[in-house]
Amino acid sequence: MKNLFLIRYGEIGTKGHNRYKFENQLMTNIKTALQSLGAEPKVTKTFGRIFVETNFDQLDVVERLAKVFGIVGICPAKKVDLDFDEIKEKALELIRAKIEKNNQLIPFRVTTKRANKSFPLDTMEINQQLGFYLLKNTPDGSLKVNLNEAEIDLTVEIRENNAYVYATEEAGSGGLPVGISDKAGLMLSGGIDSPVAGWLAMKRGVEIMPIYFHTPPFTSERAKEKVIDLAKELAPYQPGGLELEIVDFTKIQTEINQNCPEDLITLIMRRQMIKVAQKIMNRKQGKALITGESIAQVASQTLDSMQVTNHISDLPIFRPLIGFDKTEIINKARKIGTYQLSTKPAQDCCTVFVPNTPETHPNLCQIEEGEEELVIDELITEAVNNTEVIFL
Ligand code: ATP
Ligand code: MG
Repeated sequence: MKNLFLIRYGEIGTKGHNRYKFENQLMTNIKTALQSLGAEPKVTKTFGRIFVETNFDQLDVVERLAKVFGIVGICPAKKVDLDFDEIKEKALELIRAKIEKNNQLIPFRVTTKRANKSFPLDTMEINQQLGFYLLKNTPDGSLKVNLNEAEIDLTVEIRENNAYVYATEEAGSGGLPVGISDKAGLMLSGGIDSPVAGWLAMKRGVEIMPIYFHTPPFTSERAKEKVIDLAKELAPYQPGGLELEIVDFTKIQTEINQNCPEDLITLIMRRQMIKVAQKIMNRKQGKALITGESIAQVASQTLDSMQVTNHISDLPIFRPLIGFDKTEIINKARKIGTYQLSTKPAQDCCTVFVPNTPETHPNLCQIEEGEEELVIDELITEAVNNTEVIFL
């Protein structure tokens, strides 16, 4: 095949007897992520490394693999025999290609990882002899050795049956492969926070199932489209794709608006959303709910407010952004690629139905009293049974 990539992973390497499960999940996710490019790639593993061989374009492969959690580094590599002359030749090819693109003096170093201890040269000998060979065979003024601040780290990995040589490492997203940590529902609004919260959960291997509460005509079709676009942006991070559930929340919202004290509307609305989401999770074997809340960001995110929300749920509610400042969340959203979409104007029910003086320190009795007039069970069943499902 045309291109070979050596895949480095991070935390998976610290796992013990169950490490193979993480590796296998990562290999499956890599295959799935590349499937859309065409024919199946060949994905194999050796101790501590995964190899991907494909005929696909290098840039396309890197772009997709950069979004596969579990991967720390993607290294376009050359595979050679366990022969030092061959290693030198390939290393020189890679270095020359780099020099051609860059007319300045490039600081470089050689790094050897010698897993195969029977190779005749030791690590220091390979580093020194290969470094010298590269300097000698490239034009004066193109390379200089700099061990601490190298721009090119020419790496040689000496393994059981072959050696691998690479001069580039593209960054992966880190974390653990999606699917290794069960499934959870993501409460996805059109805001900045919840897509970031979902991304962080996926980063720890959780398969997310987004749920959006739509309140037409109070919230527009544009708001719904925005959430679909956000889910699309998150989808490449979850190689099996996303199943977005859109709940029609209008009847429940209207029932709340008409029958609950105004200062508790947001909290009661949030509790009913959680109730619906939990029922959807029961159907889909989700084991938790995830929200984009962070302490004290708005009235409904004080510790007391979150406590009364938790009370309605049998599932744990996780809030990955709990300690993040807004600026930190924005920076993450920019990195993930959701920020621009999130800041497009569109109303969310949380911004349409805002009390003038929302309760910030509710207690459970007060909330349950506030919910006494609600006749809502049938509306909840109807909402759960009639979600619109979009596969992304
Ligand atoms: P975000 O930027 O995620 O919208 P926010 O700062 O606007 O957050 P709130 O409106 O209080 O905060 O919402 C808190 C959390 O509740 C959201 O992060 C999201 O997880 C969930 N949520 C709010 N509105 C909806 C909705 N319409 N559908 C699904 N989840 C929602
Ligand atoms: Mg919001």
